[in-house]
Amino acid sequence: MASLPLNPELLARLQSKQPLLWLNPKQGQPLPASAPSADLIASAEARLARCAPLMATLFSELAPSHGQVESQLMPATALQHAIVGNDGGDGAWFIKRDDQLPIAGSIKARGGFHEVLAIAESIAIEHGILDPDGDRRVLATAAARALFSQYSVTVGSTGNLGLSIGVMAAALGFDAVVHMSADAKAWKKDRLRQRGVRVVEHEGDYAEAVAAGRQQALAAPRCHFVDDERSAMLFFGYAAAARHLSRQLAEAGRVVDAAHPLFVYLPCGVGGAPGGITYGLKALFGEHVHCFFAEPVASPCMLVQLASGTDAPVSVYDIGLDNRTDADGLAVGQASHLVSPLMASQLAGVFTVADDQLYVQLLALKTSMGVEVEPSAAAGIGGPGWLLGSHEGQAYVRDHGLDMRNATHVIWATGGSLVPPAELRRFQDYAATLAGQACGAMQPAA
Ligand SMILES: *Cc1c(COP(=O)(O)O)cnc(C)c1O
Repeated sequence: MASLPLNPELLARLQSKQPLLWLNPKQGQPLPASAPSADLIASAEARLARCAPLMATLFSELAPSHGQVESQLMPATALQHAIVGNDGGDGAWFIKRDDQLPIAGSIKARGGFHEVLAIAESIAIEHGILDPDGDRRVLATAAARALFSQYSVTVGSTGNLGLSIGVMAAALGFDAVVHMSADAKAWKKDRLRQRGVRVVEHEGDYAEAVAAGRQQALAAPRCHFVDDERSAMLFFGYAAAARHLSRQLAEAGRVVDAAHPLFVYLPCGVGGAPGGITYGLKALFGEHVHCFFAEPVASPCMLVQLASGTDAPVSVYDIGLDNRTDADGLAVGQASHLVSPLMASQLAGVFTVADDQLYVQLLALKTSMGVEVEPSAAAGIGGPGWLLGSHEGQAYVRDHGLDMRNATHVIWATGGSLVPPAELRRFQDYAATLAGQACGAMQPAA
């Protein structure tokens, strides 16, 4: 521990689990030479567009969007007033409603569907069922299903990635296998099993479930392992979100340029989803977009990786944190090694959130806007407050010469619409017990 390349003051604050905003001193430096080309973002956009008719064929709930899997950008003035008081503070707030993404109910629909579609296209082309330029709806025919049934698609997940990959793979006829950590929620396992997905449970944390899944998949023929810690196909599926967001911002009349900064607050687990979206947004808006990740105080894996300033893997366990959080989508001890080197020069910073604060924010969102999310998805809500109200945030604004009156703040809500109503109520009830209470509240019953 003594040899960790973290500044001692930061280390002490992280270890005390005191929420903090860390600013990335390397933001704006050039990307590493190995950084993937932005063409791959365009390829992901093209794949999702050409597969939209297929998606509409596979999932009747996608008929209204013609197979597009996208979410609303919702003005959040009521939340802004609830959080920063009656004058509403500076700028305009929005919530990006990935909690409502169809079929998977979380941000994981973006990366997960993209990767499974890429696998299906490549197998079908290889076997002469699909012409490279052909109509993707052929992938929903009996011939394609018979082919896919000889292949398995495997993933390791705390839950939401499993829901996304498992449901998409099963819908195409693949043998879908999801390796889950023991702490994954029972309703997620049930839902997967109902959709014909095989669920394999593992003791230990998320990383162990991923490792077990990877090992079993590598040993099996005709098996594709979706690797949350390394997958470029997931990453670019997430990155494809950026262009749609830019259209939504334009439709909402929000300009993004030197005089009109865009702030985006993204909950971070292993880093794939928020990292991909950041990569996509940076390609479109450059220095005019400021992306901040939100991580639980017990699981600040991207923060410790970036703050260490090294390429050597650093985990939250290395600094004595236990990676225990109710934000199950964010309970990751070590950041993705595909993503962290890219974020080293693109990310503005990371702020941490205590679990109780997640519930307080989740309840504020429900009370002010009627929006119900899971704890992970509430992590970004504190972002504007950090920026406008903390010394670090104010220093950031000053150093970058930003005019906050024209700022647009996008809080990315990442999951929740599939959470059973009883569970959502339990989150809110627990938050209500926290209101006005100093400490020592009971955790919501599992
Ligand atoms: C997975 C997840 C995230 C974070 O995505 P990573 O790719 O793990 O960083 C955030 N919120 C929810 C609800 C998630 O399921």
